[in-house]
Amino acid sequence: MAELIDGKKISQEIKDELKEKVAELKEQGISICLAVIQVGNNPASTVYVGNKKKACAYIGIESLAYELPEETTEEELLNLVRELNEKKEVNGILVQLPLPKHIDEDKVIKTISPEKDVDGFHPQSVGALSIGQKGFVSCTPAGIIELLKRSGIEIAGRECVVVGRSNIVGKPMALLLLRENGTVTVCHSRTKDLKEVTRRADILIVAIGKAKFVDADYIKDGAVVIDVGMDRDENGKLCGDVDFESAEKKAAAITPVPGGVGPMTIAMLMHNCVESALMSQE
Ligand code: NAP
Repeated sequence: MAELIDGKKISQEIKDELKEKVAELKEQGISICLAVIQVGNNPASTVYVGNKKKACAYIGIESLAYELPEETTEEELLNLVRELNEKKEVNGILVQLPLPKHIDEDKVIKTISPEKDVDGFHPQSVGALSIGQKGFVSCTPAGIIELLKRSGIEIAGRECVVVGRSNIVGKPMALLLLRENGTVTVCHSRTKDLKEVTRRADILIVAIGKAKFVDADYIKDGAVVIDVGMDRDENGKLCGDVDFESAEKKAAAITPVPGGVGPMTIAMLMHNCVESALMSQE
């Protein structure tokens, strides 16, 4: 039976460390502020934004909430982002995705100042990551590295297989594993014989958005399995991309859904906000 990698517990540790750091910074007269913009009222986005605001309040980061109507034009949103870029007291700007269809997400992301890009989605942040320079790292993959490290799982020299190549999870995940000296393979929907590749993995990271797709057949005995998926099963219950019941019989360690990668994403967002404040002092 696999050991459970407890993202809830590890994310709480990180939030408590950040809370202490933020209190110290406050004593030095440095306060931290995250601006969160939501356009429209997508119910999932409302839950995510609510969780982010809650985490800010817990850690002692001020949050400015902008809840804009669905009909907001692209120009109105871009103007708000530009305004926040200029505000000295705002350290981080987060635009909750997805945006309504009439707004170009790439344009919005590019308008956020790279110094305030706490989501790590700006092309400059992504470029910095790919050439090993300092910059914000996308929160979900950064959280996975933290999960592995804090669980005592060695990355260097190991076979790491990432299933999924999205800009927010798969690609930055591969770059981060490479930075940690893993031997990295990236799979996607056109990969031939996926099982053959995933069975080589010492560390298998699955981010495809398909409920319970990866079962024990895809997993090498003793592998570490990280499930990024946030899907719904046939009964509408939250589940991951990995079939947990079957996978845990073969894996040495595995993340559950919920309570695995999800809570780490918010913890790393908070981490990036603190980093942003520290960088603005430099
Ligand atoms: P995405 O943008 O839809 O990308 C999915 C990726 O999976 C694509 O690269 C796709 O390949 C690949 N894929 C799809 N079906 C496949 C298959 N049968 N075999 C191999 N590869 C396949 O998704 P995402 O944004 O990366 O998110 C993935 C999952 O993670 C979702 O469930 C999402 O909800 C979850 N998520 C969780 C968090 C969190 O905080 N826990 C954060 C972000 C995302 P192609 O490129 O060839 O199409």
